[in-house]
Amino acid sequence: MQFDDDADLDTSEVQDVRGSRIPGGRATVGGGIAGLVALILGLLFGVGPEQLGLSDGGPATSPTASTAAQVEQSCRTGKDANTRDDCRTVAVVNSVQDFWRQEFQRRQGTYTPSRTVLFSDRIGTACGSATSAVGPFYCPGDRQVYLDLGFFDELRTKFGSSGGPFAQAYVVAHEYGHHVQDLMGTLNRSQDGRTGSDSNAVRVELQADCYAGVWAHHATTTPDESTGRPLITSLTQADIRDGLDAAAAVGDDRIQEKFQGRVTPESWTHGSAAQRQQWFTTGFRSGDMADCNTFR
Ligand SMILES: [Zn+2]
Repeated sequence: MQFDDDADLDTSEVQDVRGSRIPGGRATVGGGIAGLVALILGLLFGVGPEQLGLSDGGPATSPTASTAAQVEQSCRTGKDANTRDDCRTVAVVNSVQDFWRQEFQRRQGTYTPSRTVLFSDRIGTACGSATSAVGPFYCPGDRQVYLDLGFFDELRTKFGSSGGPFAQAYVVAHEYGHHVQDLMGTLNRSQDGRTGSDSNAVRVELQADCYAGVWAHHATTTPDESTGRPLITSLTQADIRDGLDAAAAVGDDRIQEKFQGRVTPESWTHGSAAQRQQWFTTGFRSGDMADCNTFR
């Protein structure tokens, strides 16, 4: 994955609060090793902690602007995105939102942008407070994506994914898939409390994977709003393989096998490795969100 060196990045779409502590915050979601497995099973790439009943309603201080907002200072152009992880995230958020803005427009709809909050350790959100252990998530309560970049190391070390640059892009695009669902009114279908391989929870997650694929299909042709040229200049087969590899690594069956030693499809919340790959591929091949009807 390569970015146009000369494109300007729009850092207003990413809020960087890494390194800032939330005053008085207690560990609420994801404290300790014991909680970790349950959280990985329940929340990986999911929708906010509250929706899954894991928040204890502890202090939910909103993130405040960090004095050392690194992305604002360091992520100016596509060249920075080609060299730094955090800047790459900014560029992917820009590309994903440019695409959906244009796609909604094409469909006579209005896309409301969603910010990504980069945090470290712990964060307060409208969905409750969360630690990094929950993995990236989308909070419908404040319509923001929450991401600790340390998760991308875990993709490699804990989940055994290749974790290349496009694996990161897939994760970001999946979360924005939830935002698109939120705007379209389909996200709340996952809130019926059921789990299992054909539950609405899984269908919502697979649709977000499909939407990530739809964006990937258009990633190198979507004009950037600053230059009119695509921000992403190249996406190779190897990149797509990285994305598929990440999608498989976080499949419910793979995670269950790894962390609980057996596979129990009745408790699935995100779909199997094969399902996640299949739906990303469906979106990527056609580039048409109409093909992402996982509820059929
Ligand atoms: Zn998800």
